[in-house]
Amino acid sequence: GFKCGIVGLPNVGKSTLFNALTQTAAAQAANYPFCTIEPNVGEVAVPEPRLQKLAEIAGSANVIPARMSFVDIAGLVKGASQGEGLGNQFLANIREVDAVVYVLRCFDDEDVTHVAGKVDPLADFETVETELMLADMESLEKRRANVEKKAKTGDKEAKAQLGLIDLALEQLQEGRPARNAQVPEDQRREWRMLQLLTSKPVLFVANVDEDSAATGNAYSRQVEERAKQEGAIAVVISAKIEAELALLEESERAEYLESLGLEEPGLNRLIHAGYQLLGLSTYFTAGPKEARAWTIRTGWTAPRAAGVIHGDFEKGFIRAETIAYDDYVAHGGEAGAREAGKLRQEGKDYIVKDGDVMLFKFNV
Ligand code: GDP
Repeated sequence: GFKCGIVGLPNVGKSTLFNALTQTAAAQAANYPFCTIEPNVGEVAVPEPRLQKLAEIAGSANVIPARMSFVDIAGLVKGASQGEGLGNQFLANIREVDAVVYVLRCFDDEDVTHVAGKVDPLADFETVETELMLADMESLEKRRANVEKKAKTGDKEAKAQLGLIDLALEQLQEGRPARNAQVPEDQRREWRMLQLLTSKPVLFVANVDEDSAATGNAYSRQVEERAKQEGAIAVVISAKIEAELALLEESERAEYLESLGLEEPGLNRLIHAGYQLLGLSTYFTAGPKEARAWTIRTGWTAPRAAGVIHGDFEKGFIRAETIAYDDYVAHGGEAGAREAGKLRQEGKDYIVKDGDVMLFKFNV
């Protein structure tokens, strides 16, 4: 599954947000218990109203949402890369995530100490990102000598790798994250294999006070502005409110949201932003046994998408019977859509579209 890592300075609301995420998941998917993989890793159900609708039409006994993981990556402080806590566990945690969520404190509260003495979300962002850039430089410099030696013996792979290492180092030494580097299209894979902390796509969470949950505040506007410059997404959330929302029943939740002037929980916006950031799409399978949402990268072909269900589906792929979500609903399900000529037979080159309802035919 896809994973987002939550980073930020201490006391900005990371744990509050993480707990809200994981508790909401438990509430949303009663038949799909939230599982704590490790204390700091949680799987959440991706909010997906279309899935419920499909389940009703197909008369599915079970509804299984797509999942996304969040990792609470604690331990980032100024000087962390100099050994102030950026331990191996921390690095391992953050290396394996697909995207990084920066939680930035945008609330004043005299009772909550700010590690730098003053609320300043952009300064906090710089502090955290600087530590990640320093960690990247260190790991690149460690690897460089070896790779250079190999490259000198004429090893083509090492030569290409050396070029990428130097490209990254050049970026980082100028104080820019690795994600800003111009990487040739045909070297993207090798680039990803460098596993740099600052080459991952980023998302900003502006954690505002309870009164600013619907409107945002001066701090969160700074964050939004900064995100815009980066071409990144900023989500304005009040972690404290999300934590309260997570504990409410569905009906109470709607009422509370309305009283706050919110259309949906901030967590839904966060999860959807994560989807967008990672370039993900959803397809569905629906039958009497279960209706289920599956996550793929946008642009994946039918066999690759089938592989998310089971490796054999990809290997033995023959074709996919496909109905667009809107057609499925408009014609009251599979039989109706088939009759109306809306069930398409798609082959191995078909690019799966968001919302497709799929049935895979395969050889075993
Ligand atoms: P972490 O160290 O980043 O994980 O931060 P925590 O989630 O433990 O939060 C630190 C403190 O800030 C706790 O006392 C939270 O209750 C408080 N806090 C978190 N989010 C908010 C918020 O949106 N508003 C206010 N007033 N306090 C918050």
